[in-house]
Amino acid sequence: MPITNVKTVHIPGFENPATTCEFVFDDKEAEKPEPSKNDSSGGKRSFANVQILNTAGDGYGPHATTLGDIANKIPSKPSLKKSCEKCRKRPDQDGMGFASCAGCKIARYCSRECQTSHWKYHKGLCQLRKKLAELERDLEAKALANNGPFVSQEALRKWYQDNVDIVDYTIVQTLELYKGRAHDLWRTNAVVFSLTGGKLGTSVAASEISFSDAEAAEFTTLERRDRLGLPANYLAALGAGSRIIVIFLLNRERNFMLVEGHDLPAEEKWAGMEKDDMWRMHIRMRNMAQMLG
Ligand SMILES: [Zn+2]
Ligand SMILES: [Zn+2]
Repeated sequence: MPITNVKTVHIPGFENPATTCEFVFDDKEAEKPEPSKNDSSGGKRSFANVQILNTAGDGYGPHATTLGDIANKIPSKPSLKKSCEKCRKRPDQDGMGFASCAGCKIARYCSRECQTSHWKYHKGLCQLRKKLAELERDLEAKALANNGPFVSQEALRKWYQDNVDIVDYTIVQTLELYKGRAHDLWRTNAVVFSLTGGKLGTSVAASEISFSDAEAAEFTTLERRDRLGLPANYLAALGAGSRIIVIFLLNRERNFMLVEGHDLPAEEKWAGMEKDDMWRMHIRMRNMAQMLG
């Protein structure tokens, strides 16, 4: 295979040692039509075959892949429609989601019966969410007065919704869901997402936030005051043990934290999951890969 136009580039926002890649433009390969029938890129296949040779150390290489592979690795999803808090029934992902709780506007229920019978379990969390929303106004005023960035629960939740494909992929890798349903790391561990972004002295929008890193963390360590100080009963109210707990931290600050229960991937998806040793890098490079087509 002829190798032409070799370039070394810095991947923006990728701060660890894997900062360089060699882009191998193989013009002959690029002109060939892609045989795959799952082509959703509207004919812009010329960049999909561009090879990337990651040359960085620390477990990140050398590793050859293509932009097309990276773009396809993390499947895009239109939206996240949450299951019923009580019976865990899933709504049709293409249709309307279930109606939300009037109090917190977050919990979803498939029926009035489910909502009514679940109230005794949900009440505490519902009230806490309302209280947090009120506290947030003070927090925002304080943060802006001190020329700090401020990010609301709503903005973090929007980031979560907008990037649910990344969230899903990260969950599969950090909780090792590719090992199968019997592997139950997800019952004892949450996934802590480190996000970055936001300008000083401003309220941060979801679009200004980007993924930095993620790791699995045991619930018992999250309870500790020197970690996140999340009480076990709070995690249980979010569905720990039956749902995956996801925690989003902006700029590693506990003030800007969103904790949510995330539905487990649908049963039929488990078979297709696979281990990706390069997942952090693939997430970082996905946007670039998609941009190039
Ligand atoms: Zn239900
Ligand atoms: Zn509620």
